[in-house]
Amino acid sequence: MLWTSGTRVSPLAAAAGLTVDERGRVVTDSALRSVSHPDVYAVGDAAAIRRGYGVMHGTCQGGMPTGVHAALSILRVLAGKEPKPFRFGYYHTPVSLGRNDAVVQFTHPDDSPRRIVLTGKRAAQYKETVTAVPWPTFARMKKMPVSGAFWPHGGRYTRIRSAK
Ligand SMILES: Cc1cc2nc3c(=O)[nH]c(=O)nc-3n(C[C@H](O)[C@H](O)[C@H](O)COP(=O)(O)OP(=O)(O)OC[C@H]3O[C@@H](n4cnc5c(N)ncnc54)[C@H](O)[C@@H]3O)c2cc1C
Repeated sequence: MLWTSGTRVSPLAAAAGLTVDERGRVVTDSALRSVSHPDVYAVGDAAAIRRGYGVMHGTCQGGMPTGVHAALSILRVLAGKEPKPFRFGYYHTPVSLGRNDAVVQFTHPDDSPRRIVLTGKRAAQYKETVTAVPWPTFARMKKMPVSGAFWPHGGRYTRIRSAK
C-alpha cells in the first residue's frame, strides 16, 4: 500500500494581499518578513522560506525555529535593531509507521539523505524521543531563548547561499 498526505495553507494570507507562492504560503525574505509587507513575519507551514537548497517544507523541525526566530526578530526591531537572517539546516526525516515502527532518514542540512537510516523499533523510539522530549522542554521555558543556538544552522549549506 502507498499512502501519501500533505498540508494545505489557509487562504487568509492571499486574501489579505500578501505575496504568496503557488501553494498560498507567504513569501518571505531572509529574515522571515513578508516580501510585500515587511512588518508581517511568516513562520512554519504558512511561510515559503527560500533557502539556497530550496523552499523549506512544513514540519515542526522548521516550524519551531522559525517561530522563535521571528519572535527574536520582533524584539530586535522594537529595540531599534535590524532582524538577523534566518539560518537553518535539516537534521533528519522521521516517519512514524504506527506505534512500534518507523523510518528515520538522517539528512544533510539541505535535506539530502545521509547514509545513516534507522528502522523498526529503534526508529520508533527515536521518533518518540525527539517528538516528546526536547521541544516541550523549550515550550515550558519561562524566558525566550536568547539565541537560536538550539537548532542546526546548516553550516556551509546555508552560509554560502542563503545569508543575504
Ligand atoms: C497528522 C499530522 C502528523 C504530523 N506529524 C509530524 C511529524 O511527525 N513531524 C513533523 O515534523 N511534523 C509533523 N506534522 C506537521 C506539523 O504538525 C506542522 O508542520 C507544524 O505543526 C506546523 O506548525 P505551525 O505553527 O506552522 O502551524 P500549526 O501547528 O498548524 O499552528 C497554526 C495555529 O494557528 C491557528 N489558526 C489557524 N487559523 C487561525 C485564524 N484564522 N485565527 C487564529 N488562529 C488560527 C490554528 O488553530 C493553530 O493552532 C504533522 C502534521 C499532521 C497534520
